[in-house]
Amino acid sequence: MAETIKVLVPEEQVNQRIEELGRKISEDYAGRHVHLICVLKGGVFFMCELAKRITVPVSMDFMSVSSYGSGTESSGVVKIVKDLDEPLQDKDVIIVEDIIDSGRTLYHLMKILGERGPKSMHICTLLDKPERRVKDVHVDYVGFNIPDEFVVGYGLDYDQRYRNLPYIGVVEGVK
Ligand code: 5GP
Repeated sequence: MAETIKVLVPEEQVNQRIEELGRKISEDYAGRHVHLICVLKGGVFFMCELAKRITVPVSMDFMSVSSYGSGTESSGVVKIVKDLDEPLQDKDVIIVEDIIDSGRTLYHLMKILGERGPKSMHICTLLDKPERRVKDVHVDYVGFNIPDEFVVGYGLDYDQRYRNLPYIGVVEGVK
């Protein structure tokens, strides 16, 4: 059944903000090489667009974790479904996320990845729901702070659908 999707952040605004984030990261990492880690599947659209706008050398790796059951609440237990291909030793790492909600996923992920000896580790998320935070995580780069609503598009799904929407939308009636 098709749900009704209301546009929260239009495509042009998303693109413009990613451009700004890319510029800021390029300035902050001037003279360095940045290693982007994409948290699949949601982060993939954002990371590809972001990477294209970063002007310092970039490498990329992908991982997949599960912390969500079938509902919309994070369980707090992070299981690595697909691990990174490359070691993180001495790398300047940026974890690229689609959205931070309770912060539980990222909190556990940072603990796991922090033990692998990166030179630095920062967080970049397209969307943040600060009012939902349960775990205190420091987020360095945020695309948009959004209200407590269930969003889709730009990589984010609802039952595996809507990831391909080029804007951020709210699925009406879902929290
Ligand atoms: P956290 O552990 O911060 O509560 O949850 C992070 C993960 O929950 C995100 O990577 C994403 O997969 C999922 N998530 C949280 N809020 C939303 C939302 O509004 N829409 C969608 N599609 N996924 C969400």
